[in-house]
Amino acid sequence: MSNRTRIFSGMQPSGEAHLGNYLGALRQWVDHQDDHDCYFCIVDQHALTGGHEPSELPRRVFDLAVSFLAVGLDPERSTIFVQSDVQEHTELAWLLNAVTPVGDLERMTQYKDKSSRLESIPAGLLNYPILQAADILLYRAERVPVGEDQLQHLELAREIARKWNHRFGEVFPEPRPILSGVGRILGLDGDAKMSKSLDNTVRILADSDEIWSRVRTAVTDPQRVRRDDPGRPEVCNVFSLHKHFTDPARIPDIADQCRAGTRGCVDCKRILADSIDEHFAPIRERARKFTERPGRVREILEAGAERARTEAARTMHEVRERMGLDWRRAAIATGPL
Ligand code: SF4
Repeated sequence: MSNRTRIFSGMQPSGEAHLGNYLGALRQWVDHQDDHDCYFCIVDQHALTGGHEPSELPRRVFDLAVSFLAVGLDPERSTIFVQSDVQEHTELAWLLNAVTPVGDLERMTQYKDKSSRLESIPAGLLNYPILQAADILLYRAERVPVGEDQLQHLELAREIARKWNHRFGEVFPEPRPILSGVGRILGLDGDAKMSKSLDNTVRILADSDEIWSRVRTAVTDPQRVRRDDPGRPEVCNVFSLHKHFTDPARIPDIADQCRAGTRGCVDCKRILADSIDEHFAPIRERARKFTERPGRVREILEAGAERARTEAARTMHEVRERMGLDWRRAAIATGPL
């Protein structure tokens, strides 16, 4: 077994990854592979609380797997798998229900936001953080790369681990966050978090024309009405994106020309679109190769699930025993019932 710190992180299968997924998570995951024992999971069971379309889910899982592999997640170094291939996730979630107060679940900000928009609230929406805790604790992960919006759920996972350990004995480490450090990635609307459902992002595998057609719609500094109006790069989301994708040597000039009003926003966005295009060109090429070999992608996910199941079985053996779910052992100790 590896001595490296184990980390777990998951992503919902909303299909091919987009810039927000890449900047906020995938790029860091690739780097974590150098010095951690990584479990990266496509959490398809988490997608079920959002009114998913069953006929679309398998394709979305596949497309996200291609994105994982194309950006550089490496099945030789990381365990890459699909949540529903390891049944212990849902079993452990049920067992963790035993130590999770309903009040803690009702306090979750995401639950309050989402449930306030629904007439009928599925129980899964409330219990979602327990499944998240199970995802992490099943592999006894010590660190979890998360965005700031997931910190509250991770704190709950720590609390659940603490309560369970207190009641049944030390099994689970209390997982600590690894923050991406990139902050909130705003969408092209310059207002909400970048997300596919808000249609304010760019697919990481988009071609040059699509990248430009998306980037040209990006909201800029509202003070720039005419082309030569002085602008404020520090309030402009296009400028924030430049910092992720454009050659750092060009950034001071872009800022100066914006402030002086000597470069128009259309030109500025064109540079950004070209930088994004260039950045993702090799990733697109790798994705094309994986898409042409779906059997290879399936093999990678199956091998990952096999490794994950071995680890999950080890944890669950101990969990079941400590929770008194090993009645056969009791029968042997007392003789035939
Ligand atoms: Fe934003 Fe660039 Fe326009 Fe300045 S020139 S407001 S940084 S898009």
